[in-house]
Amino acid sequence: MGYTQRIIDELTKRYADQPEFIQAAEEVLTSIAEAVDANPAYEEAAVLERLVEPERVVMFRVPWVDDAGRVQVNRGFRVQFNSALGPYKGGLRLHPSVNLSILKFLGFEQIFKNALTTLPIGGGKGGSDFDPKGKSDREVMTFCQSFMTELARHIGSDTDVPAGDIGTGAREIGYLFGQYKRLRNEFTGVLTGKGLGWGGSLARTEATGYGLVYFVQELLAHRGEKLAGKRVNISGSGNVATYAAEKARELGACVQTMSDSTGWIYEEGGIDLAAVHEIKEVRRARLSEYAKTHPSCTYTEGRGVWSIPCDIALPCATQNELLLEDARTLVEQGVSVVAEGANMPTTLDATEYLIDAGIAFCPGKAANAGGVAVSALEMTQNSERLAWTFDEVDAKLQEIIVGIYRGASEAAERFGKPGNLVVGANIAAFEKVSAAMLAQGI
Ligand code: GLU
Repeated sequence: MGYTQRIIDELTKRYADQPEFIQAAEEVLTSIAEAVDANPAYEEAAVLERLVEPERVVMFRVPWVDDAGRVQVNRGFRVQFNSALGPYKGGLRLHPSVNLSILKFLGFEQIFKNALTTLPIGGGKGGSDFDPKGKSDREVMTFCQSFMTELARHIGSDTDVPAGDIGTGAREIGYLFGQYKRLRNEFTGVLTGKGLGWGGSLARTEATGYGLVYFVQELLAHRGEKLAGKRVNISGSGNVATYAAEKARELGACVQTMSDSTGWIYEEGGIDLAAVHEIKEVRRARLSEYAKTHPSCTYTEGRGVWSIPCDIALPCATQNELLLEDARTLVEQGVSVVAEGANMPTTLDATEYLIDAGIAFCPGKAANAGGVAVSALEMTQNSERLAWTFDEVDAKLQEIIVGIYRGASEAAERFGKPGNLVVGANIAAFEKVSAAMLAQGI
């Protein structure tokens, strides 16, 4: 048995209760196996054993008082996975599904994603099973203050720099930053995704969605194609989905679908994005509201955006939302590109199916790296105590995304798997992180 397979087997046994983490680790390790097993130096230095074990995990109690005066208790986490390339960097997810397995999967992915950006950031992730949905602003603020009261002692602008993720947007980052500042009496770039007036970067909000579309644009350019005239199906209606939709439309594509946790909308002529933004971001309401003012759209409860024929599929909601049966339907109906805006939205069997069917499959760690890339640019601006213009940040974002596409394509070719961006992205990132780990000793 090869070194890589032995580590996968050990992990599967040791962390049988962490299915999402095992899924992510297995996906990466399987795809880099050939490269790793060919070089005994990796096994001698136990690089994989070290890579799959977080440097540190902090778990803590988050007590807060709700509007009815009752004491609530949530669980808080920060997984500081790997700091070989820089301070731990990664978002904070606030969602009832959050547990250690999900945060370890996200933290593990983040190591590779962050390495691909070529910027000096390590990998981490955190969050809580707190659900901001349906909570008042005061409740969200109280929760964030309690969460940061513990987290503050573990993070810092040169140690660990959290950011947003599902459930953590501009409002939450504001409350978290306020509490950190109060506790430390220090105004530093300890979080990214900050408000524009107080250390945030222009284009950070748009970065993940825009970056996703820039990635697809680069891939299409290599085939002599353009986004203009393409039918794009998107799942999700949060920050990533919204700005991916905006950029795709700006480049002449037709965005046909979007979804939320209760249902999905289909507009053959293209979705009215301003209306979606108003419903989701301003009113924090359900997407079903859209149908009330847009009679040309179809609203359906449950899941289903992948049943509509399209050229490009952009899963931008959450993990494991594009299943094998969806992949089959997409392929039968002529999809040519699937690019992940969310982290690991495609299941392992669906990913394999798409790649075998010759579809250009763009893994999230490469295609959605624009968000964390601009977060790293926010850190740079904070260190300089300067703020760049939107166009400066956007130009750098485009340059970084094109670099990620080229780096992953080049590595895929080098390993005899031309066009396989999963293998390419994983190998390119692994080479960078492992070289730093080896250089820094045991
Ligand atoms: N949560 C985002 C991600 O999955 C952004 C992380 C960051 O900006 O640090 O990459």
